Amino acid sequence: MLLYCSPKKEANMPRYYVNKNPQTNGDHEVHKDGCSYMPQPGNLQYLGSFTDCHGALAEAKKYYSQVDGCYYCCPSCHRS
Ligand SMILES: [Zn+2]
Repeated sequence: MLLYCSPKKEANMPRYYVNKNPQTNGDHEVHKDGCSYMPQPGNLQYLGSFTDCHGALAEAKKYYSQVDGCYYCCPSCHRS
């Protein structure tokens, strides 16, 4: 997918990132671009643009078996 060829569609789709470092419970948290609780830039794995966090979590699962949505920016994907 080319990220910059369709700016209108892109505008509706926020970028998502996963934390390379797991939480204490082993979860790798997924964050939406602009979240105040984003980890250090060096710990971020870019996932892509998705219409919602569910697509982002599915992508994050290709990298890490244990992933969870951030409580603050992805509440509908947050489990624990
Ligand atoms: Zn977040």
